[in-house]
Amino acid sequence: MSRLARRDFLNGIALSVGGALLSSRPAFGRGLDEAGAARYPPGLTGLRGSHDGSFEVAHALRDGSFWARAGVPADTGERYDLIVVGAGISGLAAAWFFRKAAGPSSARVLVLDNHDDFGGHARRNEFRVGGRTLIGYGGAFAIDSPAPYSAVASALVSELGIDVTRWARMFERGLYRGLGMTPAIFFDRETFGVDRLVPAPGGIAELGGATSAMGQADPFAAFLTNAPLSEAAKRDIQRLFKAPADYLPRLDDRDKKARLARTSYADFLLKIAGCHPDVLPLFQARPHSLYGVGIDAVSALDAWGLGFPGFAGMKLESTEGPGMGLDARPGPRSPFLHFPDGNATIARLLVQRLIPRAVPGRGADDVALARVDYTRLDEPGPARLRLNSTVVRARQAGEASDVEVDYVRAGRFQRVRAPSCVLACWSGVIPFLCPELPRAQREALAYATKVPIVYTNVVLRSWESFHAVRVSQAHCPGSFHTSVGLDLPVRVGSYRPSRRPDEPIVVQMMRTPCRPGLPAREQHRVGRQELLTTTFGTFEQKVRAQLARMLGDGGFDASRDILALTVNRWPHGYAYQYNSLWDPFWIDGGPLPCVAARQRFGRIAIANADAAAYAYADAAIDQAYRAVGELARRT
Ligand SMILES: Cc1cc2nc3c(=O)[nH]c(=O)nc-3n(C[C@H](O)[C@H](O)[C@H](O)COP(=O)(O)OP(=O)(O)OC[C@H]3O[C@@H](n4cnc5c(N)ncnc54)[C@H](O)[C@@H]3O)c2cc1C
Repeated sequence: MSRLARRDFLNGIALSVGGALLSSRPAFGRGLDEAGAARYPPGLTGLRGSHDGSFEVAHALRDGSFWARAGVPADTGERYDLIVVGAGISGLAAAWFFRKAAGPSSARVLVLDNHDDFGGHARRNEFRVGGRTLIGYGGAFAIDSPAPYSAVASALVSELGIDVTRWARMFERGLYRGLGMTPAIFFDRETFGVDRLVPAPGGIAELGGATSAMGQADPFAAFLTNAPLSEAAKRDIQRLFKAPADYLPRLDDRDKKARLARTSYADFLLKIAGCHPDVLPLFQARPHSLYGVGIDAVSALDAWGLGFPGFAGMKLESTEGPGMGLDARPGPRSPFLHFPDGNATIARLLVQRLIPRAVPGRGADDVALARVDYTRLDEPGPARLRLNSTVVRARQAGEASDVEVDYVRAGRFQRVRAPSCVLACWSGVIPFLCPELPRAQREALAYATKVPIVYTNVVLRSWESFHAVRVSQAHCPGSFHTSVGLDLPVRVGSYRPSRRPDEPIVVQMMRTPCRPGLPAREQHRVGRQELLTTTFGTFEQKVRAQLARMLGDGGFDASRDILALTVNRWPHGYAYQYNSLWDPFWIDGGPLPCVAARQRFGRIAIANADAAAYAYADAAIDQAYRAVGELARRT
């Protein structure tokens, strides 16, 4: 069973499917046309995602220093029918569901978000280079969930004019392969003793299974020959892929799965499959793109579900085992659809519905290159979107009274009111906004620690260096960024991807900071701290060095080739999904924290993907629908 998760695109499979530092000023985009550098949030480079200015107020609230200096909020006198906190897909969907339910009435909605752009994780990066626009995704990559979308989520997507069957028509699948390029694995000298880029047709996710390669009879054998791994490691890797064995022959299917659910994949390799420890570094970062942690913190059962090697001879029935992660479960998944800006297209289409005057055009093809007019988002109208606004309080003073929502915008402390409020922000923030929630609910909300992750977009003058080494993307198990890849060539509306190696392109790199050896949630906390203290200069240095080491043989020159760099840092990234190694209730049974966490509190309802402990857009939409429904039933 091999389930190719969407994020495996970042792990290197589906495409078969030294000079001076850049200035640390806005000249990050020194190769960009002027229009791209103007103050248009998608066009900003440098540290984006949770950008400076977006989190300081919330951190002061968390640290207890906010209220001492806050004073009394100025009453704006504004009253809405609904206030939504958070302009991610969940918050925008909640606003839309509410507006739709209100019909042609004059229901008014205000959406508040602490960032200077909307979409939450569904964020777009835009670059103007040599007269053309290049689009990148700064967060959520695709419509692609490990389970089918619900009727509600499917209906919303199609109502927005998104045809989820169009992927094959948009994606130039054979482009890189046609140019003789394959995925590869980059071995770094700190981990493997030498820097070496080794072609691995099929990438890390299909290592051992790839059959088509550039004239090679046995690409896996060629990979093993060239990989800088010890003989013991090579022998065991060969065995894992090519000599299926039942490592737990005395257990039946149920007991095998129960055992694997409580064993990390690292321990499975060492203690059950009897591999040499030198095998581990090759696979360590393999689950990063889905779990944000390595094989020390992901169960062997999940590893089996995800198609990692070592299970082919274990006679496991393709049925779900106890405590399997949501990403690893067998069964049908959603359709796959990736726009050049990822799920930012969904966010833009939702804003288009809510505030048509701000987003020109109609439908996915039009919004691909549409320039959103940010000055119109907060104009008076049925729906308003107020950015750079961190909510610090949501309080309903009495049974019949409005919810008062206090927020800080540009240093000003202000209050708005509405009879109903949806908190579509991160669960972990809510106890600080609503300290009067019951203690058990606050604890359940706080359980939802976020998974830190970074999507770095690097604009290159050309991709000749990739072409010269015949590599389109690489999994880099020991490097700072654990994946590097040329943008997926996708056509939508009048947008055309880079098709020739001498054209500029966006290169996507991913990092998930974590600390192997700790429990998963602790790893996320440590990773988040690391991320918040890593400067742009450090990111820049790491990007330059990594690309130079990988592509030096192809003539890559960082000073000449890198035109712009946008680091989308998400210290509060994916919703935390439960894990059989670390969450006893997930494997032994018991109430789920997310269910206790999302209970309505008077006229305040709770949405966001966190409310389902499921890090996908369909969860964000479903939770919005539930939250709006709860409020509707209340009134
Ligand atoms: C790097 C990355 C890649 C991903 N890739 C995919 C993918 O390919 N497919 C997929 O389906 N999902 C993906 N996801 C998961 C993604 O989180 C969900 O799909 C979905 O976009 C979440 O939407 P949301 O509205 O629930 O949360 P968010 O997008 O997190 O939106 C919540 C918003 O609330 C704001 N907020 C928080 N506190 C406050 C406050 N106090 N005041 C005001 N605003 C506040 C936040 O800043 C944020 O803007 C990815 C996530 C990340 C981080």
